[in-house]
Amino acid sequence: MTVLPALTEPRVSGSRRSAGSAWVVLSLSVVALIGYAFAVPDTQSILFAVVAVACVASLMMAPRFNRPNTRLPWRLLAVTAVLFLVGAVLRASLADAAGHLTSLWPDAFTLGGYACIGSALVMFLRHRRGHGDAGSRSDAVVVGVGAILLAWSFLVVPTLGADGAGTALRVVSSLYPPIDALLLFVVAQIAFTDVSRAPAFWLLLLCMVAIFTGDIAYAVDIARIAHPPIMLRDGPFLIAYGAMAATALHPSMVVLTVPQPARVRALVRGRLVTVAAAVVAPVLVILVNPPGAGLRDRVVLAVGISLLFGAVLQRSVRAVNQHAKSEAFLAVQATHDALTGLPNRTKLSERTAADLHDARGSGHAVGVFFIDIDRFKVLNDTWGHGAGDELLVAVGTRLRAVVRDDDCVARAGGDEFAIVCRIQQATEEPTAIADRLFSAFADPFRLSVGDMVLTPSIGIAVAEGDAGYTAERLIRDADIAMYRAKDAGRNRWSLFTTAMHDAVAERLSIEQDLRRAMEAGTISLHYQPIVELAHENLGGFEALARMEIDGRRVPPDVFIPVAEETGLILPLGRWVLREAVRQLGLWRNQYSDLHPDLYMSVNVSARQLRDPELIPMVRAEIAKHGVPPHALRLEITESVLMDDAEAAMLVLQQLRDIGVHLYVDDFGTGYSSLGYLKRFPVSTVKIDRSFVSGLGADTDDQEIVRAVVAMAQALSLTVVAEGVETLVQRDCLRAMGCTSAQGWHYGKPLPAAEAVAAFIAPTPEERAKSPILARQLAGGKRTA
Ligand code: C2E
Ligand code: CA
Ligand code: CA
Repeated sequence: MTVLPALTEPRVSGSRRSAGSAWVVLSLSVVALIGYAFAVPDTQSILFAVVAVACVASLMMAPRFNRPNTRLPWRLLAVTAVLFLVGAVLRASLADAAGHLTSLWPDAFTLGGYACIGSALVMFLRHRRGHGDAGSRSDAVVVGVGAILLAWSFLVVPTLGADGAGTALRVVSSLYPPIDALLLFVVAQIAFTDVSRAPAFWLLLLCMVAIFTGDIAYAVDIARIAHPPIMLRDGPFLIAYGAMAATALHPSMVVLTVPQPARVRALVRGRLVTVAAAVVAPVLVILVNPPGAGLRDRVVLAVGISLLFGAVLQRSVRAVNQHAKSEAFLAVQATHDALTGLPNRTKLSERTAADLHDARGSGHAVGVFFIDIDRFKVLNDTWGHGAGDELLVAVGTRLRAVVRDDDCVARAGGDEFAIVCRIQQATEEPTAIADRLFSAFADPFRLSVGDMVLTPSIGIAVAEGDAGYTAERLIRDADIAMYRAKDAGRNRWSLFTTAMHDAVAERLSIEQDLRRAMEAGTISLHYQPIVELAHENLGGFEALARMEIDGRRVPPDVFIPVAEETGLILPLGRWVLREAVRQLGLWRNQYSDLHPDLYMSVNVSARQLRDPELIPMVRAEIAKHGVPPHALRLEITESVLMDDAEAAMLVLQQLRDIGVHLYVDDFGTGYSSLGYLKRFPVSTVKIDRSFVSGLGADTDDQEIVRAVVAMAQALSLTVVAEGVETLVQRDCLRAMGCTSAQGWHYGKPLPAAEAVAAFIAPTPEERAKSPILARQLAGGKRTA
């Protein structure tokens, strides 16, 4: 078995080792401390040495199994432990009978240890900080300087003044408190970097606090302020050793060298209290213990307090600056697009409104040009968003270059840009400006994925200053005109006219009508027969939606596109599918003797294929009405298959798995690609009415239909011809080998009851009305 090394994720919780050993070592040091209290001096030394050696061993081994991302600081800690131990041993062995020390050697080792531990702490800090929280440094300065001031007045001054020891020794001893203060400065920063406060962090803190305590006890002793018992002087170092070892052993030690996320956080209460205490404490000290007359004391205190306030000031200044900066940033962000740096839609409206205002009574007009990049989606889907972004930036730059400096180029969203400018009506044609905008697209765009030629569709709306236009209306008009340019075949401009507005208004009113009709239940289905050409038996029906509102009939060519644009096609399509399957179940049941294999064809639009409810619904409905899956046929237009091939493929495959048959509707009007007929699990092609109508007259159409039938046969697909209106067309199709036909020749779409009477079980009256119908559709059984 191979264990993959964690490459990116720091192993914090997933460590193979437990935290147990860390707690064992820490507990051992506590036990040693208790033992220390009762032992004789010789045994004390042995205890001390054992704990120290255990600590060094832990520090050497732990990084091997905890695998932090760097081992250097841990090696430095190991060296620290060794140097401290050597210092302690020397101190014990070089002291005279009275316990006094004259040699500087022990201090040399101990100070070396401080240098090492200091370096290790700085390394932790560096690794943790990442892109840091700058405030943490000022806060740490505050705490550090505060500590130095306290150490100065309470420890350094008395030490230097103490008699008995040699001068060199006194100076060296007085070094410890400031060194501790420096270490405290680093520890404070580690604590203030936004910490995931892992156990290793607390253990490290415990170690440092223990060292500080021990040092203070020693300093107090040397300064002759008091004589703390040996337990207070050596004990803390035992705990420090234990805690240092535990820090390294604890699996969470890895977080100490992992960059912490640079979160912007408000001042945490603990941090606030610490910083405040560090500022206030020295002031209190001066109050309680006014500086001696000595100049040196005053200078130290003055410098310290200045530093303190400097750090606090720096922090506040930074906070204020940051606030101002983020406000400015937010202001720009609210009105500008992050990708292109251009003004966004909000700014576009503001600018248009301002220009309209300025244009009042000035004789010039305001023009808005809405630009959409043709087939941007294809580029994005084919080459990825990176390429799309590159293009948008390039388009923004080029548009800026072809307009006047005081024109506003904005990104209106997605792949849409808009330009607002003044138009001197006497001399300038808006279409000339549009031509300049086109020139921005003349050269291919050099993208990292290659050179791309792209075209825009441009919508133009112009308003005179006095026409009472609002910015919103002008922008909307330009948008409408842009869509018109797209509909007209892209790569062109279109100038807004009120007729366009009427079209939009009509679309809106259709939407309203559709909603009302759906609520009122005045949508219904009509059924048009599909006939098997070989014997002219009824094969099945296509269900076609009908809408009636206020006594008017709205044709599906009008309301279906609106339903698709608005998403209303989802509820509508679900209803159509349910109703059609229900009707089919009923008919199959009732007329099983006449039409045992009756099927129903239902139109399904693109949106519906993306409806997660489609598959479960199809399953449920056919089960509910006892319809065998193959009796349900779903018609999908060519364009749906092409536009979102991957997604469509998945859904179609699932439908095919249920057993439902899939038809390609309106074949020949779109891509007419052989490739996807082969790729998609379709069973049938429906040749579009426009080709069928030319049969017998237009030889081109004849050849196209012949080719489609031949191709379908080669792929073992069946063919339904749509819009068969004449006998000539029928004969043509039959001769070519077309499977089925649908059209007015056989019958128009009718409501259910009429469809039964006319096609399923023709009544004698119906037969009398239409002899062809009766003979052709009722199949062999009822024809005498
Ligand atoms: P389609 O799917 O191509 O439907 C066939 C259309 O041709 C129907 O128009 C039908 O009435 C018409 N038609 C049939 N035979 C003849 C003929 O011999 N001559 C002529 N000139 N026309 C014939 P309809 O019912 O107006 O439907 C129009 C379109 O609306 C349908 O075209 C279909 O795309 C859509 N549609 C209708 N109902 C639904 C539905 O429930 N869901 C969806 N998604 N679309 C529907
Ligand atoms: Ca259809
Ligand atoms: Ca069709």
